[in-house]
Amino acid sequence: MRTAICPGSFDPITLGHLNIIRRTAKIFDHVVVCIMKNSTKTSPMFSVEERTDMVKRACVRYENVTVESSDILLAEYAKRFEKPVIVKGLRAASDFEYEFQMDLINKNINPKLETMFLTASGKYTFLSSSVVREMAKYGADLTGLVPQELIEEIEEKARQWRNNNG
Ligand code: ADP
Repeated sequence: MRTAICPGSFDPITLGHLNIIRRTAKIFDHVVVCIMKNSTKTSPMFSVEERTDMVKRACVRYENVTVESSDILLAEYAKRFEKPVIVKGLRAASDFEYEFQMDLINKNINPKLETMFLTASGKYTFLSSSVVREMAKYGADLTGLVPQELIEEIEEKARQWRNNNG
């Protein structure tokens, strides 16, 4: 069985992420979406538990997708799978430079680990979790940016943020 790992911070999951997960699930037998705890990104909007729960709900319709979280290096985490492949989405040249560097580092730690890239769907090339967080904080409409069933929860979190920071 060939497993793909889709890693990220998913703070929160966007339709851009979901597009990559869905396409990966069509190619591989099994997809593990891995919510990384030790991301360099500081002060996340959602806790790892909240992010994991949101990703699980967004992916519930994909039978071969499971969701986990990890607080160890991705290259170490991947060692538990036989022939794992990391699948990442590429939005722009800036993504590529970063991902190229990460792949070299990962291969140093785990030489068996391969990384594959899917190009972002045209309508999501501008979309990132940070765009969603920013828009939510200003009370903008999140329709078409994140899974519909998560909008209320993200808006509520943004309201709390405004109350604490406004
Ligand atoms: P972000 O950059 O939005 O904070 P993550 O760190 O959670 O997202 O990214 C996880 C993976 O998802 C990365 O490989 C990233 O390139 C990919 N990704 C994020 N947003 C998109 C998008 N809109 N289209 C395609 N891939 C994406």
